[in-house]
Amino acid sequence: MARSKNWVSRLAIFFVFLSLVFGVLLYRSCSRKTPPPPAPAPSRTRVHEPRRTPAVPRDRTRPAPRTTTSTPPETPERAATSAAIAILIDDLGNDAAAVDHIARWPFPVSVAVLPELPASGDTARTLERSGKQVLLHLPMEPRGFPGVRPGPGVVLRSQSDEEIASTLQNDLDTVPGAVGVNNHMGSAATADLRVMRAVAGVLAGRGLFFVDSRTTGSSVALEAAREARVPSASRRVFLDDIQKEAAIEDSLSQLISHAKREGPAIAIGHPYPTTLAVLDRELPRLAARGVRLVTIGEVVK
Ligand SMILES: [Zn+2]
Repeated sequence: MARSKNWVSRLAIFFVFLSLVFGVLLYRSCSRKTPPPPAPAPSRTRVHEPRRTPAVPRDRTRPAPRTTTSTPPETPERAATSAAIAILIDDLGNDAAAVDHIARWPFPVSVAVLPELPASGDTARTLERSGKQVLLHLPMEPRGFPGVRPGPGVVLRSQSDEEIASTLQNDLDTVPGAVGVNNHMGSAATADLRVMRAVAGVLAGRGLFFVDSRTTGSSVALEAAREARVPSASRRVFLDDIQKEAAIEDSLSQLISHAKREGPAIAIGHPYPTTLAVLDRELPRLAARGVRLVTIGEVVK
């Protein structure tokens, strides 16, 4: 009896010990699991924040989450506050569908309208009402004229200073609301200092700026503009020399890189369906790519 009693109490002690060990193991495994829940919670909110920030129109909100990573993000961060590009769609005045398309963009794209066309006035007014900055797209004599014809309201080298002035004044009257001018064609006229001085004289008198489309490497447009104290700038990139989506995207990337490296840069594009389709996609993504889209006037200043 004494023996079996002893044996039973040993067994009881063994089970008490065993349950203690299990109890400790169970407690430790539970306490290890407890901390993780708070961890996933913040990581979930962190995922949401960057997704929300691109929808915020202000660029300043973007860099904050990026500073948590290492050096490379510093470049986009700086670019977000400084890099600016302007996009000018010119050759408008003949294409009602393109005007409607551009008018619907909620972005400060600038537009240049050809003068003395039946729809010049309506085009300029519609685009100005939609918040776009309007320029006169001034037809100027190209090399190869008169074989190559720039259209009505053209400034020619054969014109006197007075004729150039009155041509430009008339052109401006047909594009209401124009705050600046850029040349349509003009590879011959923009290389002629007398012609460009006559043009700059009118611009100075009307308080307008000039954007050199750079249709020739020999342009003296900026020289003449500076003499007359007309604010001016040059086009950096043509978006759609090649009317293919990949080529237009590539030109836009060049423009953005240039703006980040050297400051505000201007691109000129045309109302081709391909160009408009690429811009439909890319304009909403510019802030995420570290650049601000501004009007031509802001770059010229
Ligand atoms: Zn043009």
